[in-house]
Amino acid sequence: QDKHKYSGMVEDCCCDYETVNRVNEEALHPLLQELVKTPFFRYFKVKLWCDCPFWPDDGMCRLRDCSVCECPENEFPESFKKPAHHGLPSDDLVCQEGNPKGAVDRTLDSRAFKGWTETDNPWTNDDETDNAEMTYVNLQLNPERYTGYTGPSARRIWDAVYSENCPKYPSEELCQEERILYKLISGLHSSISIHLAADYLLDEATNKWGQNLSLMYDRVLRYPDRVRNMYFTFLFVLRAVTKAANYLEQAEYETGNPIEDLKTHSLIRQLLYNPKLQAACPLPFDEAKLWKGQSGPELKQKIQGQFRNISALMDCVGCEKCRLWGKLQVLGLGTALEILFSDNGGQPGQTLHRNEVIALTNLLNRLSESIKIAHEMGPTAEAIAEDQ
Ligand code: FAD
Repeated sequence: QDKHKYSGMVEDCCCDYETVNRVNEEALHPLLQELVKTPFFRYFKVKLWCDCPFWPDDGMCRLRDCSVCECPENEFPESFKKPAHHGLPSDDLVCQEGNPKGAVDRTLDSRAFKGWTETDNPWTNDDETDNAEMTYVNLQLNPERYTGYTGPSARRIWDAVYSENCPKYPSEELCQEERILYKLISGLHSSISIHLAADYLLDEATNKWGQNLSLMYDRVLRYPDRVRNMYFTFLFVLRAVTKAANYLEQAEYETGNPIEDLKTHSLIRQLLYNPKLQAACPLPFDEAKLWKGQSGPELKQKIQGQFRNISALMDCVGCEKCRLWGKLQVLGLGTALEILFSDNGGQPGQTLHRNEVIALTNLLNRLSESIKIAHEMGPTAEAIAEDQ
């Protein structure tokens, strides 16, 4: 089935599906999996408070300290107090953070942070230089997986992301650049859905986790455009990483652990100058084709504004762990956009914040994993769906 739906070039990109799958599985995915475990890449600085600017009356995200669970006892349903209780969390919870599956385990390795310039990313809403409200999170302890966050609250975020910021595709009038913003968001959405289905709570009573292939099929795999958008997003982010190769190669990865740091640097070089990638897909995406014409600068500003709104919407996500990964991945996308479209993108003079590099790399790893899962599990998931 793969052959029909996903053959030829990934739309708007410069590589075909088969090559992307091969290079990803043979070279990029194993490298990225190693890289995100290193001390430099596993700690992410983030403002986890719900500071939702859009829906002040939303009970889910109103409490600033909701994320550390300063919610009155009576806000928790019984099922949260007794982990073995059956049934999924109800959607009208005042504090979804009370859901243990959605809560973030915070750890800080202060040695891991030093020596990086702090800059504000114009594509995102958060002020990345504002340290006062930030906490540090060990991503390895907080995998992106099923959290039980669902229903109108989650739906409202996605609806706002799509309808308020980038009109539904396919719309013939959309110019290439706006279609790209839609595809990036849709690709990220597919990737999040793949991850929550790949690491799903199958049985709450026994706390059994595993793959839910029917869900993966229903949410993503049955829609070829959603899968294609995920490939597109992967190549877009991969291009940003390789475009910034000079900068990323020379960046400072010291965390006070010389053996680990040496390994980090070596893995980074293997990723940036990967012979398999360079031979098979040297230019994953060609950004030079965009922002041409008279309205170029104006359009770029408009899309930057839209992307900042999407970034601000992440403050309205009513589940802490979803918010963590939402913010990380949106910052990662914002960093990719900055590298590809700022005037000195990827060139001398480019400055990236440490956190941006972490977000970009972890986002690439998430996408790489989603593509691998979709490629490997697609036929089985489809067969299961046909049997039902
Ligand atoms: P949703 O995934 O909410 O989709 C809503 C609608 O968007 C669909 O009905 C469809 O019309 C459209 N749509 C769906 N996918 C695409 C696509 N790829 N491209 C274009 N349109 C699409 N839940 C977790 O369990 N773990 C997480 O880590 C997690 N992270 C999240 C992060 C963010 C930023 C947000 C907003 C939500 C997150 N969620 C997470 C919730 C999850 O994404 C779903 O919203 C939830 O599981 C309910 O799914 P749904 O079936 O209602 O459809």
